Amino acid sequence: MRFEGGFQGRCNKLVDGCYSFWQAGLLPLLHRALFKEGESELSRQRWMFEQQALQEYILLCCQNPTGGLLDKPGKSRDFYHTCYCLSGLSIAQHFGNTDLHHEMILGMEENRLAPTHPVYNICPEKVARALQFFLRLPVPGGNKQPEASAEDRQSDPDADNDATASGSADQS
Ligand SMILES: [Zn+2]
Repeated sequence: MRFEGGFQGRCNKLVDGCYSFWQAGLLPLLHRALFKEGESELSRQRWMFEQQALQEYILLCCQNPTGGLLDKPGKSRDFYHTCYCLSGLSIAQHFGNTDLHHEMILGMEENRLAPTHPVYNICPEKVARALQFFLRLPVPGGNKQPEASAEDRQSDPDADNDATASGSADQS
């Protein structure tokens, strides 16, 4: 991250508020993948990016005083950047999952957002309900038996973790 605090889409591009989710949302997934591989150096309190710096960028540089969020100062607000700035802000505020949760809220408590799932970008509880619903349905278009029954998959710890706050920091 450059000194602006927000993410760029790639090298030599300018910082952009919407990458707060596109980039920051990837870090919980990497964190989880590395944890599963037995990486012992992983933090149990924070993702592998400067969560405070990202919150500063979003809160100080991406807010339109009359509402909505934006790419960068000087740009106009829009629904797309409002969504992904807020989603990235949520990722930056919440580390972990339901078992291990660590919050870092920059500024006042009213800045606090609900956790969002880094893959589906909806509340983790909604992801859990959706998974429960769809795992009970038969596999469409076939007489073939699925490899695993819905019950099997529901007891799969991976399926469980997918439904947690960030799906990645399952250290315990
Ligand atoms: Zn953008």
